[in-house]
Order: sequence, then structure tokens, then C-alpha cells
Amino acid sequence: MKYLKESRIIKGSLQKKKLKCGNPGCHCHKKGGKGHGPYAYLAVVVKGKTQPFLLKKWDIPVVNKYIDRHRKLRKEVEIASQKNVRLLHQGRLR
Ligand SMILES: [Zn+2]
Repeated sequence: MKYLKESRIIKGSLQKKKLKCGNPGCHCHKKGGKGHGPYAYLAVVVKGKTQPFLLKKWDIPVVNKYIDRHRKLRKEVEIASQKNVRLLHQGRLR
């Protein structure tokens, strides 16, 4: 990668959801059933569609870090871009 110094990033969000299992006789399939979980999953947009990736418990803190890094990276890109637009206005961009 040419420009990115920190590539341990994920563009997505961590979410939690209760899920129904595959057993039709289970309590989770009854009306008002609570489901199992909540399970944590990573929601990422792939080709314009949000896809859920179920996470292992031990992956959650790591995934959180990756998401946070992406958030900070995006902020830095925004700040750098705004600064350069300012320079352009001042005729000092080179
Ligand atoms: Zn169930």
C-alpha cells in the first residue's frame, strides 16, 4: 500500500442481535420468543449491501480496535483535505 501507513482498519460497525436457531420446536420460535444471544456481529458494506459477520467472543475487542482506527483515519483524511482546500484558497497549494 502506497499511502496508508496503518492498514489494520475495518470500515464497518459492531452490532448486537438476538437470533432464532434452526430448531422449530425451540422457545425462540414461539410468539414473542426472545431468541438466543444477543450475538455480536460486524456489519460491513460489501458492494452496496450490508453484510453481517458473526463474531467470536475473543474477536470482539480486536474488531473494535480496527473499527476505531478506521474512524480516526477518516477524521485525519478529512482534516488534511480541509487544510489543503484552505491552502488552495490562499494560493499556497503546491
Ligand atoms: Zn432456539
